[in-house]
Amino acid sequence: MSEALLLAVIGLLLLPSLTRRLRAHLAPSEWARINATSLVAAVVLFEVALIVCALPLLLFFINGGEQRHFFPGGIFAGYVSLITAVALPVSVAIGIARLVARRRVLRAEPWFGEHHLVDGVDIVLLPTRAELAFSLPGRPPQIVLSEGLVEVLTEDELRTVIQHEAAHIRYRHSRYLLVVAALAPIFGHLRPVRESLDSLELSLECWADAAAGPTSLDRRSTRSALMTLSHTYCGTGIAAFSKAEAAAIRLESLSDGPAVTKPQIRMLLYGTLAVLAAIPVASLWSFAG
Ligand SMILES: [Zn+2]
Repeated sequence: MSEALLLAVIGLLLLPSLTRRLRAHLAPSEWARINATSLVAAVVLFEVALIVCALPLLLFFINGGEQRHFFPGGIFAGYVSLITAVALPVSVAIGIARLVARRRVLRAEPWFGEHHLVDGVDIVLLPTRAELAFSLPGRPPQIVLSEGLVEVLTEDELRTVIQHEAAHIRYRHSRYLLVVAALAPIFGHLRPVRESLDSLELSLECWADAAAGPTSLDRRSTRSALMTLSHTYCGTGIAAFSKAEAAAIRLESLSDGPAVTKPQIRMLLYGTLAVLAAIPVASLWSFAG
């Protein structure tokens, strides 16, 4: 059963990547939630399995006596599990701390640029030729734009960019991006998992695009703004308006119009997620029993 548990955890880590072609059949908000749930479940269940695997070793150190190992590999697997069980949460904490620090650096101080408080959001215009458009959580949350950006966009394009960033704030996408930042240090080097993290980021961008304006005129303005700004980049974990690697897919989604949910695709995704999450739980349950 331990092999099934590992395969299920790998399946949960890869689900967002393997199912990314189905995104056109689901609302971006639902797609983002499924991606985030799958990734968080994978890491939590993996950590629990590592602790369970390391537990016999810890009990042996404390009480002595016979060891009962969950995974094949005996005491060696116990040591590897113990080290990984400590390294995983440390890596997650480092990833989150890095993102929080990066957001703090990007936050515009009150004395820098023009600040306008609109509906509880601090809209900042920075005096720079660089084309910047990103949002940051906080009190108050910020939408940061630049004079260079205002110069290259039309009035309609600028309006949809602000609505896009406001959607990131309204739907708390910064929390989803914490998942990406937390998993990137340890799993981001594995290409298939990196694609899952990219899939989650892309789903948030499509969600904000859809929320930026439901009309065809809004979608056209978002598309043309995206084409103008697709070369700009702010790094992982920052809700920037455009990221080059995701821009082509977003342009395609915007030209296709709102996603039409297919119930059978939804059932397939939720069913796969439930089965993959149930396997590790059943494995751990049978070990405890
Ligand atoms: Zn965005």
